[in-house]
Amino acid sequence: MSLNIAKFGGTSVANIDAMRNCAKIVIDNPSTRVVVVSAAAGVTNYLVQLANEELTSEQINDLITKVEEIEFAILAGLESPPHVMVKLNELLSLLRELAFHEEILHRPDLKDAILSLGERMSSLLFAELLCQMGQQAENFDARKVIKTDNEFGQAEPDIQVIAVQAEKLMKPELERTVLVTQGFIGSDEQDNTTTLGRGGSDYTAALLAEALDADTCEIWTDVIGVYTTDPRITDKARPLPELSFEEAAEMATFGAKVLHPATMVPAVRKNIRVFVGSSREPEKGGTWIAKNCQQEPHYRALTRRKDQVLVTVKTPSMLYASGFLQQVFEILANHHLSVDLVTTSEIAVSLTIDNPPNSVRARLNKATIEDLKQISEVTVEEGYDLVTVVGNNMHSAAGVSSRIFNAVRDFNLRLICYGANPHNISILVKDEDSTDVVKVLHRDLFEE
Ligand code: ASP
Ligand code: MG
Repeated sequence: MSLNIAKFGGTSVANIDAMRNCAKIVIDNPSTRVVVVSAAAGVTNYLVQLANEELTSEQINDLITKVEEIEFAILAGLESPPHVMVKLNELLSLLRELAFHEEILHRPDLKDAILSLGERMSSLLFAELLCQMGQQAENFDARKVIKTDNEFGQAEPDIQVIAVQAEKLMKPELERTVLVTQGFIGSDEQDNTTTLGRGGSDYTAALLAEALDADTCEIWTDVIGVYTTDPRITDKARPLPELSFEEAAEMATFGAKVLHPATMVPAVRKNIRVFVGSSREPEKGGTWIAKNCQQEPHYRALTRRKDQVLVTVKTPSMLYASGFLQQVFEILANHHLSVDLVTTSEIAVSLTIDNPPNSVRARLNKATIEDLKQISEVTVEEGYDLVTVVGNNMHSAAGVSSRIFNAVRDFNLRLICYGANPHNISILVKDEDSTDVVKVLHRDLFEE
């Protein structure tokens, strides 16, 4: 019997009606034995605010009320069975306790504890819904299996331990029941709750698919697959029937919101096919992501990643010197900042760093810049977006880049990265230009 892991995102479990669509999808596919859910849409954002912002008691209460309203509406849709109500109220009491905890703003472990509650509530409710619709199902605590380090907010999963735990605690149950578990959360060696970074539920699904040796992993969301580009940028964007692992990984890394960037890693390791589709319109099909595709076009898709900062470090002492890049990257690594694009010249290096608002992680901050200033002159430019063309054999075919540069000839390109990877060409442009840049590229590369 083949095994499928189905993951449902925040909008798919936002309310009881949306959840019912998901339950039908689960019941319709007998191979689906593990379900991974996100928090109901909006809930994690409220929890991030409670964990990170200096708030008055009134503001804290308001945010808790907003969370309660979402969860209670779903509970009401289930006709408030007492055993579920008791458990939901326990989680909401924990939410209140953590939200008013004196040290919430300073303790990463408490932040992750509060952030985990959205998924813990939605999985409780979704398991109950499946039962009510006649499907044997149980809520399963992902923290028993998704073991991680203690880098709160962006914990690193331990693949070996996860495989052992999944084999021991989940595998034997799957014939008897569907397990409904939480995305995004895990626990460290001391059993403290950890989280995998925003959007991490996709990653959980892929990790479990890997650990349980699943055949497929479905990511159900609110769009009918991965598009040539974000359909909110141009209505000419169209869904892609297929993508290769490499292309999908590039797209996730460079801003396609449909997939968490790490999702493809476990899928690639175990060659698990990944499906992306809409839980509202499952009949419309979706995108299959697999090792090999029927076609390998030069241009497959376009992504945009917003909120990029460009950092340039410059030092005359770099002339004829070695070891400067190493120093720069060491400082960035010490501050847990990951670099995306790099260009170098003899005495300067420019790099782009992701600086999104609402992230759980530290962003580029004064301390990092101060450390860089110890070794060089530093300039920081904000207000950039990164536009990436994803495709195949881009570095080895004549004319591939000229078509791209011809399309964007009227825009100022601040930085270009090309050649390190056959699957992408990236350009950094002013944020006010990026929508138009994506539109002209889409027109010239995808609409002919
Ligand atoms: N609930 C988490 C978030 O909003 C994880 C997820 O939805 O994937 O980031
Ligand atoms: Mg998501």
